[in-house]
Amino acid sequence: MAKFTYKYFGSRRLGTISSKHGDIITPGFVSCASHGALKGMQLQDYCGDLLLVNALLCYSKADDIDNFGGIHKFMNYDKPTISDSGGFQVFGLGVGSVSNEIKGKKQSGKKFVTAGKKSLSFRDPRTGTLYEFNAKNSMETQIKLGVDFAIAFDECTSAKLTYQQVKRSMQKSHQWEMESLEYFKKNRKPYQEIYGVVQGGIYKDLRRKSANFVGQNDFFGVAIGGSLGTSSEQMMRVVLYTKQQLPDHKPIHVLGIGFLLDIRRLAGIAGDTFDCVHPSRIARHGIAIVPFEFSEKNRLNLRNKRFKLDKLPIDPECSCSSCKNYSRGYLHYLLKRGEITGIIALSIHNNFTMQRFMGEIRDAIRNENFDELDYKWFGRKIQEQPMIFDNPSTNEL
Ligand SMILES: [Zn+2]
Repeated sequence: MAKFTYKYFGSRRLGTISSKHGDIITPGFVSCASHGALKGMQLQDYCGDLLLVNALLCYSKADDIDNFGGIHKFMNYDKPTISDSGGFQVFGLGVGSVSNEIKGKKQSGKKFVTAGKKSLSFRDPRTGTLYEFNAKNSMETQIKLGVDFAIAFDECTSAKLTYQQVKRSMQKSHQWEMESLEYFKKNRKPYQEIYGVVQGGIYKDLRRKSANFVGQNDFFGVAIGGSLGTSSEQMMRVVLYTKQQLPDHKPIHVLGIGFLLDIRRLAGIAGDTFDCVHPSRIARHGIAIVPFEFSEKNRLNLRNKRFKLDKLPIDPECSCSSCKNYSRGYLHYLLKRGEITGIIALSIHNNFTMQRFMGEIRDAIRNENFDELDYKWFGRKIQEQPMIFDNPSTNEL
């Protein structure tokens, strides 16, 4: 059985989630191997404690994976895993990503998902096959995958919905999550645990209600999901407010957060684990994550011609295999030629950097001092977010 232990240092905490496949040190960053593959790199090069796979996207392969003895044996990966139930991917396929939403970008392309009262219809973008996804078969899939942590089936909402629409969606999610919990408790493998998802968009009363629902039911952990607003500041308020409504003893996973600054602000205070496809995705576009010294926005676009003759590694302080072996000039050349080696090297560096950053976050929490980290990564002292939300005149966060 999994267990969560933690200790506070000031207002932030360090913790350990222990599971059958090992310990997850928190705060931690979780990379996404959505289809059972970490895009652009070998799983053996992944140095995080927890890996996310997606039930919706593994759905059609669940029996095959079960036949191998579960996702760990199938991937030959023996560290802890968590699977997303599908709700978040519905959002990704149907509406767009959280970061796009926060940046106000519009999703282009076809819709692959439609939501009904009891289920989501999902069309596989690759094969065109139509699947019906509901609480029971989401749980069935996650149990078959044999992940250490499942996530209850929910519906993720967009920031474009009205209060009434978000409220109805939250009620539907709660119904699906109860069905998920009941099915999971009866049918899980003995070591498996489940996270509930807090919905409620940007509205205080809904977040409070949803946090009470997940907090009081027998979920091992809490995932903060749904629309987190349309700006980084609003996202911060939504997550911090939601955390205040939750019982302290459950680990909190914040879905879809991968920017360094957002993690710096939330780590240990309102989130114990974070996941996002961002580090792998930007690697595929030739962008490396680096400290402030090399880029004010922590992004170095190695496709840029100014790196053509640059003999430095991506980040001279980084000890990943890409930085030990390659210059920026060589990576620039590989990326411009469209060589897959360049993308692999950046994927390794970005995933490594996320884990290195989390290690520095944990040191800063332990020392109750973020000065060194703040100047190194952001070039300035990051102000702590106020945790007071007592403005009675508005229900919006
Ligand atoms: Zn590196």
